Amino acid sequence: MGKESIDLRTPDKTHIYEYVMRPAEWRHYIGQNAIKRALEVLMRAAKGRGETMEHVLLYGPAGLGKTTLAHLIAHEMGASLKITSGAALERASDIAAILTNLTPGEILFIDEIHRINKTVEEMLYPAMERRSLDIIVGKGPSARTIQLDLPAFTLIGATTRIAMLTQPFRSRFAGGIFRLEFYTEKEIETILSHSAARIGIEADAEALHIIAGRSRLTPRIANRLLKRSRDVAHVAEQNHITAAIVHKTFDLLSIDEAGLENEDRRFLGILIDKFNGGPVGLSTLAAAASEDPDTIQEVYEPYLLRLGFIERTPRGRVATSRAKEHIKN
Ligand code: ADP
Repeated sequence: MGKESIDLRTPDKTHIYEYVMRPAEWRHYIGQNAIKRALEVLMRAAKGRGETMEHVLLYGPAGLGKTTLAHLIAHEMGASLKITSGAALERASDIAAILTNLTPGEILFIDEIHRINKTVEEMLYPAMERRSLDIIVGKGPSARTIQLDLPAFTLIGATTRIAMLTQPFRSRFAGGIFRLEFYTEKEIETILSHSAARIGIEADAEALHIIAGRSRLTPRIANRLLKRSRDVAHVAEQNHITAAIVHKTFDLLSIDEAGLENEDRRFLGILIDKFNGGPVGLSTLAAAASEDPDTIQEVYEPYLLRLGFIERTPRGRVATSRAKEHIKN
C-alpha cells in the first residue's frame, strides 16, 4: 500500500468534526484540572457579583484545547462568544469594529493573539482596563482623542507563543494567565472514547490505547487519528475500530511508535546528521530544514521537547541520545 502524507498537526478548526467532537459541557472537558478549578472560581465569583469574568490568557501548543475552553466558558457564563484571530486584527478600525459591536456580557476570543498589530494592542489596553475605546480623530496639532464607552465584556486570548506578548499586555489579563499542558495517555483515551461515541463508531479499548500512545498527547491529533482509523475501518467494511485497523492506519500515515511523522523524523535527521546533533542555532537549523523558524518552534519542537528528544540550550538546539536511538531504529 502506498504511503499517504498528511500533516496531522495543522489546525483545521473549520472542519465540521472539530465541532462534532468538541465537548459541549464543562464536565466533558477532560484534564487540565488546575486550570479548570481556577476558572471555575473566576466564573463563580463573577456570576455571584453579577459581573463579567475577568480577562484571561490561555497558552500552550496547538490542539490542546484553548478554543474549546473559550466555548465552554461562554456556555457556563450563559454568554455569547465572538471569535477572531490576531492575524485578522491589522488596523485600528478592525478592533474598533469588533469592540463597538459587542453585546453586554459577551466573550471575545482572540486566537493567536501574539499576531496582533502594536496599534491594536494599545487600543485593547483601555478597553480591557476601563471598557473604553480611545479613538484619535484628526491629525497633527488638531488631533484629539474621543472616548467611547464599551459594554462589559471578557477577553480570552490564546497563544502558542507567550514570549511574544509584551509585559504590559500580559499584565492586563487580570483573571490570570494559564498554561495548558500535554495530556496523559489515560486522559487522551477518555477523550477518544467520548469522540468515538460522538462520531458514531465503536472502538476497542486496546485500539484507543494505541491511538493515545501515538497522539502526541494532543486531543486534536488523537481525534484526527481516530477519524483516519474510522476511514480505514469503513474501507474494510467494518464499523468497529480494532488494534489491527489502528496499526494499518499508522502504517498508512507513516506514524511511528513515538507518534512522529515523516516530517518530524526529517527534522531530527537534519539536526543529527547535518549538525552532528547540535548545538545549532534556530535560524541555521530552520534554513537547513527549509522551514520557517516559527514553524519549528510552534509545530516541531513542543512535542520533541516533551519527549526528551531535543533540548534548548543557550548555544542552540541539541538532539539527545534518545532521539539518536529513535532515528537509528
Ligand atoms: P487549541 O485551540 O488549543 O488549538 P482546540 O480547543 O481547538 O485546541 O482543541 C482541538 C480539539 O481537541 C477540539 O475540537 C476538541 O474536540 C478536542 N479537545 C481539546 N481539549 C479537549 C479536552 N480537554 N477534552 C475533550 N476534548 C478536547
